[in-house]
Amino acid sequence: MGRIQSAARQFSFAILAVVLAGSVAPLTLPSSWADSTRISSDFVQGMTELRAPVRYLKQALQNLSGIGFVALPENAIAVYNRLTNRITFGLEMQDRRTGGLKSFAELSDDEVATVAHELFHCYFSTAAKRTQDDFYEEWQKSAVQLYSSAFGRPFDVHEEAYAAFITITVQNYVNIRRMMAARTPAARDRLRRNHNIAAIYEQTFQESVFGYYRNFWGEFITSDVNLPRTDRENILTNLYDGELPENFAAAFAESRF
Ligand SMILES: [Zn+2]
Repeated sequence: MGRIQSAARQFSFAILAVVLAGSVAPLTLPSSWADSTRISSDFVQGMTELRAPVRYLKQALQNLSGIGFVALPENAIAVYNRLTNRITFGLEMQDRRTGGLKSFAELSDDEVATVAHELFHCYFSTAAKRTQDDFYEEWQKSAVQLYSSAFGRPFDVHEEAYAAFITITVQNYVNIRRMMAARTPAARDRLRRNHNIAAIYEQTFQESVFGYYRNFWGEFITSDVNLPRTDRENILTNLYDGELPENFAAAFAESRF
């Protein structure tokens, strides 16, 4: 319970962190790059066990060129570089013994969400954009409509708004799912009848989400356009394939444990 309530309180911080994730500030590049296939099976298996959406994660990991770790600037959590097709994570996410990403079990809920966020950028660049699938077409139509021409870089902004929604929904789901998985079926049943937890879970899908880009001087320029409902549905339906239900009872039904 305490964990869930504190998760709710952390949402405002989480959203700020989300806004700052994906920074492209000048940073020291990792001296070596780990083969991303080394993280694939463990991360995908961990997410599969939690019944989280994995199709886009699998595809991103197949396409990703590598991952690395550096001491990132204070305002950055991780960075996907679309030119090199690599992800740089902060040192806190590195397993010092293997040099690769920490095991799924060792990753915090926030760190799992960070991986899902950066893999989304990879999926977006290497799969969705190339195939111009339904998901991409919806995203593009919306990006063109939403932002005035006075506001620069609408496509970067809209991609980050999608990534931000992915961060908060994955973090929220993984947080509650791990907590429930650690309990007995009877204890889970009691939690399912807890209206506060249901409200906290479902409210996350309605949280305000704003995209952003970084200008020439490295400043964050945040949009004041809250991610519309149609875009949220595009993610839930065409990226998550309906596998991360908004409805609390459906998301945490006993049949999913
Ligand atoms: Zn991002």
